[in-house]
Amino acid sequence: MDTQDVSVRPEHLALITAILELPSGQRLPCWDDPDLWFSTEPFEQLAAMAGCRACPVRPQCYAAADAAGERFGIWGGQPFPAHTTPQLAP
Ligand code: SF4
Repeated sequence: MDTQDVSVRPEHLALITAILELPSGQRLPCWDDPDLWFSTEPFEQLAAMAGCRACPVRPQCYAAADAAGERFGIWGGQPFPAHTTPQLAP
């Protein structure tokens, strides 16, 4: 069997560790409706951002997404790419 050198960003390791340390049975908000976190609809994007507010791994999630340069979706309560904001129609 070949071995492969796999590097993991510290931000991702921190996120994985935080998830593994959750109390047994605790679910993250995005796990029940992941499509909402990748919606292109501004109202749904805002709903996902609101859902992240209750997430116990929010800081780690944001840091991991930022380190990875995520280009799509809501991570850690923020839309990516960073510094974009969903705009609701007037
Ligand atoms: S902060 Fe991250 S892990 Fe938590 S609900 Fe939001 S997207 Fe999911």
